[in-house]
Amino acid sequence: MFASIKGRSVIVTGAGRGIGRGIARRFGAVGCRVLVVSRTLSEAQRVAAEITAEGGAAHAFAADVQRAADMAAMAKTAVDIHGGIDILCANAGIFPAAKLGSMTEADFDKVIGTNLKGTFLAVSACLAVMKAQKSGRIILTSSITGPVTGYPGWSHYGASKAGQLGFMRTAAIELAPFNITVNSVLPGNIATEGLAGLGADYVRSMEASVPLGRLGSVNDIANAALFFATDEAAYITGQSLVIDGGQVLPESLAALDEMRSGS
Ligand code: NAP
Repeated sequence: MFASIKGRSVIVTGAGRGIGRGIARRFGAVGCRVLVVSRTLSEAQRVAAEITAEGGAAHAFAADVQRAADMAAMAKTAVDIHGGIDILCANAGIFPAAKLGSMTEADFDKVIGTNLKGTFLAVSACLAVMKAQKSGRIILTSSITGPVTGYPGWSHYGASKAGQLGFMRTAAIELAPFNITVNSVLPGNIATEGLAGLGADYVRSMEASVPLGRLGSVNDIANAALFFATDEAAYITGQSLVIDGGQVLPESLAALDEMRSGS
């Protein structure tokens, strides 16, 4: 049984849909006060209302993780409304596909700017508060794509997600004296609105490549994020946790066939 983290102030970026929504609702369900952040205010408000309807405490805030001023305003709002920032889930991310040769400089900048620079800006905005209180938990949403695997069309995305882990390792060392931990969740293929946007063929092929036989749910990721925020995880920092139903394990397609043959 884990100790309660009820009452802690949590910011979740990219929480209007998908994994971020799942993380926000999970923290809300254990009694945390959640600031639900996305660019689309109506979606953030809907998620905050869901948390409130389930008996939790949440507020919505519209912000773009690419903008330092938005991130500063986000941190200030969490302090003003929820009394501090105990946990930051830097989750906002995009994954538009473009193969090398047709990928433009603007494509590259947008993905790096959102996923990697956005992580830096969200973390930076929360640091003064966490340092002053001498405690904090930072949880990044990275991916298996980049740190572990590759997929045609996602070289910029893979670079951004691997970059988050490089950022995490040095941040974890720099922030350790302030009792702030920095860890990452690495989702495999998770059933979200964003993933559905990649098309039915993509979703079917991913389902077929997961040894546990299904796409992940947003709760599968939210539970791991919640673990990194518990008191019991206080001694874990600079680490990454793959949550992918075993997707990165098979050495080859033959390994999956062999598994399915059951012999
Ligand atoms: P999603 O369904 O597309 O949701 C993304 C959320 O992020 C939305 O609420 C979106 O709202 C918000 N967002 C996007 N750009 C933003 C920005 N610049 N500033 C603030 N918020 C922004 O995506 P998802 O599938 O849940 O993915 C969430 C995270 O998990 C991403 O970092 C992604 O790389 C990672 N991930 C996902 C999977 C997967 O299989 N789904 C696998 C590995 C890693 P607005 O557009 O309104 O801002």
